[in-house]
Amino acid sequence: MKKICICNQKGGVGKTTTAVNLSTYLSSMGRKTLLIDMDPQSATTSGIGIDKSKLDRTIYDVLLGECSIKDVIVKTQLENLDIVPSDMDLVGAEVELSNEVGREFILRDAIADLDGYDYLIVDSPPNLGVLTLNAMIACENLLVPVQAEYYALEGLAQLLRTAELITRRLRIPLKIRFLITMYDKRTRICDDVANQLREYFGDRVFKTVIPRNVRLAEAPSHGKPILLYDPNCKGAIAYKKLAEEVDSVEW
Ligand code: ATP
Ligand code: MG
Repeated sequence: MKKICICNQKGGVGKTTTAVNLSTYLSSMGRKTLLIDMDPQSATTSGIGIDKSKLDRTIYDVLLGECSIKDVIVKTQLENLDIVPSDMDLVGAEVELSNEVGREFILRDAIADLDGYDYLIVDSPPNLGVLTLNAMIACENLLVPVQAEYYALEGLAQLLRTAELITRRLRIPLKIRFLITMYDKRTRICDDVANQLREYFGDRVFKTVIPRNVRLAEAPSHGKPILLYDPNCKGAIAYKKLAEEVDSVEW
């Protein structure tokens, strides 16, 4: 099982859009995929079309040790794609776990005996708190969406420092890859950010670039991944390509 944590403590860079659409296309390629929503905003849960009012348990109950992750898995409208949903309750987890020994390792333990999946994709919130640390440590492979805009690179320093501490102090070697999102070829800043990122990180930057595409922003309000909303738009084609690249690279 390949495990990928989508993270960047900067808000609105395309984490959730990537989590939803990458997992959708992996599942359409026949890969059994489990999407885990670790963000209290739960945009991944609603974006994939799950009615949150009908859920009796979420990832919150798993983190608090009240049930196993298998009890929380829900099927999605796509074959081969299941989800572990989240909801607002998860806001409380950060505080409720603050005195718990080993609180960063709960998700890792929870997924240890999961079987039958080729991919585990975890969406995380826009901070480096205990939820994001759980997601990073459980997956070890980080996919960091970087929005092509001013100051995009400055924000990465803190993320890299955290990843380095996890590797050094906890002896968990994290591997990081970057994905350029919301790319607009008409603006020069986009090219500058893309070039700088490739200069620093070389082949750790995915060849696939996600363009700015309004269809990607519209799809979640219909509770649909782009594959079901508009499979021929530019954004859809890019996420399909990303899934193929993710499936082919040695992480
Ligand atoms: P948060 O940090 O709040 O969780 P996020 O990093 O998960 O945000 P998204 O929710 O995926 O980011 O994207 C932020 C906004 O930008 C959303 O409204 C989304 O629909 C839109 N968006 C994401 N990617 C694209 C794109 N490639 N083109 C156009 N709009 C996009
Ligand atoms: Mg998000």
